[in-house]
Amino acid sequence: MTAKAKDFAEIYARFGASIASRHDCGRYCAPLNGGEPVCCTTGHAIPIVQKSEWKLLKGRTDLWSKFEPFDKTSREIVDDLHSSCKAIECKGAAFCERDNRTLACRAFPFFPYFNKKRELVGLGYYWSFEDRCWVLSNLASVEKEFVDEFLDAYELLFEKDDEELEAFVDESASMRRVFSRRKAPLPIIGRDGKLYKIMPKTKGKLVPAKPSDFKAYGAYKSPKAYRKAVREENGDPDAPFPPVVR
Ligand code: SF4
Ligand code: SF4
Repeated sequence: MTAKAKDFAEIYARFGASIASRHDCGRYCAPLNGGEPVCCTTGHAIPIVQKSEWKLLKGRTDLWSKFEPFDKTSREIVDDLHSSCKAIECKGAAFCERDNRTLACRAFPFFPYFNKKRELVGLGYYWSFEDRCWVLSNLASVEKEFVDEFLDAYELLFEKDDEELEAFVDESASMRRVFSRRKAPLPIIGRDGKLYKIMPKTKGKLVPAKPSDFKAYGAYKSPKAYRKAVREENGDPDAPFPPVVR
């Protein structure tokens, strides 16, 4: 059972909210990435879609094209893709069309998090982006409307596509392993839009959390760390330190 193009059209209609409408977060991470938002460049994140989603996008816009690998790592990513999936790339942030973003664009940096009982309890995140993505150091910036639409969209996807559900069950287990190795609280944005954490060795129990329970990462640790990271990337030396949302 897989989702069809018309299912993705409905998913897009349900899910258009910004993560944090008071923040243009792309401006915060772009100085660390040659002036482009981190999640909008294939050097950091290659959008992967189902072929049915690709069919929908092709019929709606010329924003997207097939992704051409540019190095060994990107070649391996493309070679390892399931036959039902395709790697694509857009024309870049300056040409973004909000209504024609992929589901992955809309959800980034989050994925649907399943507990060990396979219940969808909230939003987990792609931890490999912690050092660059401002949102992951400022989880309190994520708005309830985004969480509601995210869950609504993915619940429809899972009704139509059981393989997608299995993929996120696996991703959730990987996130648990990573945070358990770190001996750190695993952050979750719950279905009610509030912050939760799973402490190590508590069998996955979700407990309410405060933003200060989670540390800032990489460039977002301090103005000094941000300036240093921007300098290393030859970014805008006048870029101000992004807001801290607590
Ligand atoms: S979601 Fe994260 S990586 Fe994407 S634009 Fe916002 S801060 Fe940058
Ligand atoms: S479609 Fe928009 S949000 Fe998605 S990768 Fe391109 S520029 Fe970024």
